[in-house]
Amino acid sequence: MPQKNSSKPILRFAPSPNGRLHLGHAYSALYTWNAATLLGGVALLRIEDIDAERSKPEFAAAIFEDLHWLGLDWPEPVMRQSDRMDIYAAAGNQLRDQGLLYPCFCSRSAIAAHAGDTDPEGAPLYPGTCRHLGRGTQIERLERGDPVQFRLDTEKAMDRVGMLTFTAVGPLVTDRPQIRYARPQRWGDVVLQRKDMPASYHLSVVVDDAAQGITHVTRGRDMEAGTDIHVLLQMLLGLPSPIYNFHKLILDDAGRKLAKSKGSETLADLRARGWTPDNVRKAVGF
Ligand code: GLU
Repeated sequence: MPQKNSSKPILRFAPSPNGRLHLGHAYSALYTWNAATLLGGVALLRIEDIDAERSKPEFAAAIFEDLHWLGLDWPEPVMRQSDRMDIYAAAGNQLRDQGLLYPCFCSRSAIAAHAGDTDPEGAPLYPGTCRHLGRGTQIERLERGDPVQFRLDTEKAMDRVGMLTFTAVGPLVTDRPQIRYARPQRWGDVVLQRKDMPASYHLSVVVDDAAQGITHVTRGRDMEAGTDIHVLLQMLLGLPSPIYNFHKLILDDAGRKLAKSKGSETLADLRARGWTPDNVRKAVGF
């Protein structure tokens, strides 16, 4: 008799170790663990450290420390993206074999100089300069060792998959599922393999969510639009698509999103000022 799959919900919190966690991360983590409890599932921790330049082992260690301090636990071993570069490279190659990636030799400044439309995050949309480079030029430039990154031909990919939808729930993770349309075209031809590494955030997150059997992705509303690319990649790579749930963001007094780069006060700072885990929970509404 076929074994019945255990369908226990699996959620994840996936911080990047490029700074100390702040109240926004605390909210996202507490939200995810709370959602796992509401669904009768489990929350995993994943360290998203593909970016070797920005990720630091001491920040990864601090993530463990801060989350434990908040009273959160997770199953071991914890997945670290830096251990999985070969797996991301293989997924990228699968897309290359499908003829969906092309080499792009444009510099960031060349793209910025091409004033035009912007993506949902406000970055200049790639004007498609290298999309139509001839095979000969591509090979010549690759052989010459010109700095290269590989972009997804998003229109071509959309032609392959047709209409693209995903399942979202909200505002609560226990709300009724809704079908939403994905519009990856608004991101243009995103970079999936970078100059310095065989992966990108979009590629690794999709591969890892599938590898960990994630059933529900809980993430901030600031990452809602990126889901369009993720569901497209899931279709192209034959991966399952989790249910998505987007939570509110914690804002500072000026109404801006908290950010490491803006020097927002960290959990470690708050702890040094005498805050307890309970103070943190109360401050963010848990
Ligand atoms: N690593 C991402 C970040 O720290 C989050 C990834 C995700 O939720 O998909 O912003």
